[in-house]
Amino acid sequence: MPDGTCYNQRMVTETLSWQSQYNLLFRTTSDGVIALDHTGLLLRINPAAAGMLRCVPEECIGKTPKSVFHDQPALLDLLEGRGENVRKVILPGKRVAHGISEIQPDDTRMVLLRDITEREELDTRRDQLIAAIGHDLRNPISAIHGFAELIPLSGSLTSDQERFVTRIIQTSQKMQYLASTLVDLAWIESGMPMESVPVELDKVITLAVSELDKDAQQKRMSIAISTQHPLPFVMGDPARLKQVVVNLLQNAIQYSEPEQPIAIHAFEYGQQVRCTVGDRGIGIHANELDQVFDRLYRSPDEAVRKTQGGGIGLTMARVILRRHGGSIAVSSVYGEGSTFIFTLPLAG
Ligand code: ADP
Repeated sequence: MPDGTCYNQRMVTETLSWQSQYNLLFRTTSDGVIALDHTGLLLRINPAAAGMLRCVPEECIGKTPKSVFHDQPALLDLLEGRGENVRKVILPGKRVAHGISEIQPDDTRMVLLRDITEREELDTRRDQLIAAIGHDLRNPISAIHGFAELIPLSGSLTSDQERFVTRIIQTSQKMQYLASTLVDLAWIESGMPMESVPVELDKVITLAVSELDKDAQQKRMSIAISTQHPLPFVMGDPARLKQVVVNLLQNAIQYSEPEQPIAIHAFEYGQQVRCTVGDRGIGIHANELDQVFDRLYRSPDEAVRKTQGGGIGLTMARVILRRHGGSIAVSSVYGEGSTFIFTLPLAG
């Protein structure tokens, strides 16, 4: 018996110490924390959340989220458990928070808010800078390219000189491509109008595959297509959607050893069309999966570094898909292969 009493006392002490640690964290963390009870009423709001949302916790406790945060649609969705459990929340004073909503085992709900205003501003400034560089570089690169093409016309060259000129022309062509892709990306992001017509994604896939036929053949690779028939229409810009499929297939070819298979599937999934592009290539390290869609990101992996690329293809794919109301994700095992999955909402 004394042992049991001792054990119970220890449990009580540990629970109390855990509670006081939790309370300390709750009061002092710079992340906003909002807790709701199992009926969905506001239970606790920590000082950081109160500061971010400019509310007085005592005036909110026991109320419905809707009666307090009616002018915060994204936050309301998180508090009421609607839609995605990760959302960007616009805070008063032009600030932005990354919000996460989690239902607890006892049916209560926690919403965490992290202020990401500075990071967002940095991202925007970086994107504007890259777009400006892309724009400003186009003319000087064209000039280098043009003059390099004139050199052989002005007299005979030694074989070394010919080699150097060829290298200048090839490199300036790559730079031209990179600069115009950056400018194109900036245009799409700034809301450049896109076509919006009913699109049969299976036809887009067939076109993209035939465009890359030569590249695949060079590496003795086959691209297997399997699409649901009939595949429902999506609304969008067929040329831009083809660009997405081409980018994904080009990567699958580029980042696989010769003779490895590639498979592309498209099928209806709920209110979406889902398309997957799978390869058995070099794969992507788990810690890089979040970064591959970032502008100009290329893996430091040796197998990637020995290939050529600008790190824009996946950014472009994501931007185009977002403009269509869709999304893109990747799952990959390093050394085994990758599968890129994108979705587009059904037309209508
Ligand atoms: P690029 O291919 O020009 O480098 P992307 O934006 O298309 O640019 O891809 C970004 C990076 O993501 C690549 O550099 C590579 O590290 C990784 N990646 C993309 N697709 C694949 C793939 N299918 N397999 C392995 N890694 C990939």
